Amino acid sequence: MQSTSKSIRDAMNPDSVIADVLLPLALNSTYSYSVPLGLAVVAGTYVEVPLGPRSVIGVVWEVRPAVPTNMKMRDISRVFDMVPMSETHRKFIDWLAAYYLEPPGNVLRMVLRVPAAFEEAKQNIAYSASATKPAKLTAQRQRVLEVASQGFAMRASELAEAAGVGVSVVKALAKAGGLEEVALPLHRNFTPPDLNAGGHQLSKDQSAAAASLRQVIATRNHKVILLDGVTGSGKTEVYFEAMAAALAAGKQVLLLLPEIALTAPFIARVETRFGCEPAQWHSELRPRERERVWRGVAEGKARIVVGARSALFLPWPKLGLIVVDEEHESAYKQDEGVPYHARDMAVLYGAIGKFPIILSSATPSLESLVNVDRELYAVVKLKDRHGRPELPETTRIDMTREKLDSGTWLSSPLVTAVAETLAAGDQALLFLNRRGFAPLTLCRSCGHRLHCPDCDAALVEHRFRRQLMCHHCGHHEPVPNACPECGAEGDMVPVGPGIERLAEEALKLFPEARVAILSSDLSRGLSLRETLRGVEQGEFNLIIGTQLVAKGHHFPQLTLVGVVDADLALESSDPRAGERTWALLAQVAGRAGRGAKPGKALVQTYLPEHPLMKALLKGDRDAYLNTEKQIRENTTLPPYGRLAAIILSGPDGALTERFARAIANAAPLAEGITVLGPAPAPIAMVRGRHRWRLLVKASRDVNIQGFLREWLRNVKPKGALKMHIDVDPYNFL
Ligand code: ADP
Ligand code: ZN
Repeated sequence: MQSTSKSIRDAMNPDSVIADVLLPLALNSTYSYSVPLGLAVVAGTYVEVPLGPRSVIGVVWEVRPAVPTNMKMRDISRVFDMVPMSETHRKFIDWLAAYYLEPPGNVLRMVLRVPAAFEEAKQNIAYSASATKPAKLTAQRQRVLEVASQGFAMRASELAEAAGVGVSVVKALAKAGGLEEVALPLHRNFTPPDLNAGGHQLSKDQSAAAASLRQVIATRNHKVILLDGVTGSGKTEVYFEAMAAALAAGKQVLLLLPEIALTAPFIARVETRFGCEPAQWHSELRPRERERVWRGVAEGKARIVVGARSALFLPWPKLGLIVVDEEHESAYKQDEGVPYHARDMAVLYGAIGKFPIILSSATPSLESLVNVDRELYAVVKLKDRHGRPELPETTRIDMTREKLDSGTWLSSPLVTAVAETLAAGDQALLFLNRRGFAPLTLCRSCGHRLHCPDCDAALVEHRFRRQLMCHHCGHHEPVPNACPECGAEGDMVPVGPGIERLAEEALKLFPEARVAILSSDLSRGLSLRETLRGVEQGEFNLIIGTQLVAKGHHFPQLTLVGVVDADLALESSDPRAGERTWALLAQVAGRAGRGAKPGKALVQTYLPEHPLMKALLKGDRDAYLNTEKQIRENTTLPPYGRLAAIILSGPDGALTERFARAIANAAPLAEGITVLGPAPAPIAMVRGRHRWRLLVKASRDVNIQGFLREWLRNVKPKGALKMHIDVDPYNFL
């Protein structure tokens, strides 16, 4: 029998099986492998398989009986000793892939992005003195033994250093039997949560809200609850109670935050409440910690994970609750790679895994509010600020009436308010959502504007770095002294403000202030997280920041918020521009007065009569959002209709345009669907690639994915052309 061919052997062995393995590659289907006898493989097993000349790690998607065939099939080469990926998680990958029209392998890649978890666990060997004394003891070995018998097991290098000998002496002594090997744990353990470790005495409203959440957890069914409460109302304290309930039921809990809100003070709050340090998941984790968390989640030992959006893809075996904090945040949408929205995918995960999802925000997205209107989501409200009934008093500064010197942006009422705040020993925040020094640099002689050579975008001056930067491709160059167009010297002038320029103005006005600048450019010197901590602890008293400061931070000493240009985001063609501006302004204003003293917000605007500004003053969210809803409904924009964008790009303008037109012409006719475009994208070139956009608008009951699949099935971009499909786009540039 030994020489029979493999297919005959399979045919004769009724127990032999085939595994269909999903690989983390841009493939639409699984690959089949035979399972060598003796290897235990089930759906969800992590395996290593040969692929061409390579070896690839994948996950068994299905196991089926082998059928006699002449097809040569290669063997699975290795099975990893790990908890198999749960059926829920596999379904999640498949459904997410189908929703965004991505190959499932691309989604799997996001799960497997922790190579260290699949490497042979590096043994951490330590040594302690053994009971037997070797016969031949040199002076050096004697010293090692003395150290080793003093206490804890030590690594060879530590032992050698303590004894003042070389590592080889330690190794030789171990070999001679004088030392005993002890395996140290690979990673720090995860402390199990203590559900009664801490927490505040909840107010009456908070208790009622927590009780409603706990009730939903108790049903162990899928349900989405919007926790809708003004900034500072104690939403965090309330959803902690829901987390406690899910943990009590033996489940794992995921708390999603926008990346930037994952700060040390926030983690400390979770730690206080649950008596254990939660596992964290974000882009700055070191490889070893990534491995620890990944394994801890897979083994069910990491019970609480506080993470950025990609934490959804950790290999959860028993997830029982996802809380999406700041659910309105656009940072939950990933633009590069698989363009998924983490809030929506959290809801999908809950639907597959049959567990509840809590969406928390002071400024919920229109999507979520309309889902409440439709009774698809439940809502739990918190109306009051904890211990303080009022939200910060908001005042508008009509900039059409203010006389400002050129090159300055702070009106006199705002300057006075900042001066008073600083004099009172409090913190003030100036908010301007623009990085850098100036958004535009032009030549006073000829009017030439400095542009990125590879993008359709102005170069932004960053004065601290002494560079002009492109915010789309990262291109940078020194600020020229002479105009590259007409050669005039010393005539290049910055136009408009960025936060660095605002900081310059503020420092002239308040030379004594301890200024912190908060933007995503903070990478040199103090890191962003450190600066945030400094703000929280009062090391700075004048904070100048971009939208980063609006994201869920708790700055107890901050009493004044000045919005420098409230109109900025309203000018875009984005259908969500109004909603976003509303959320941003309400969130920024909501940073004021979270501590002992009340806060106020001053808003500089050139559009004082805009419905948004009026509603903001009155704190009348419903008035504003109802108008927004009306507009969206009338134009069948989300959440009343569906959108998908198709972005075509290529290095050759004419070819890209022709490609875009050909795709548009091939669009099938379908009821309830309109295809708009193609049109050059608002940013018509990025990184030297020309960009064209198509927008697909569908009514809510239309299967937009089915339509796209049908239409684009046979489109194969040739050469350097690329097609990017963005279902539910949040970016229209
Ligand atoms: P939100 O998440 O709604 O903005 P937080 O949960 O961050 O609000 O609460 C704001 C502040 O009020 C926090 O410092 C929090 O510790 C405090 N707080 C909330 N509820 C209570 C309570 N019941 N007792 C004491 N302090 C509370
Ligand atoms: Zn560029």
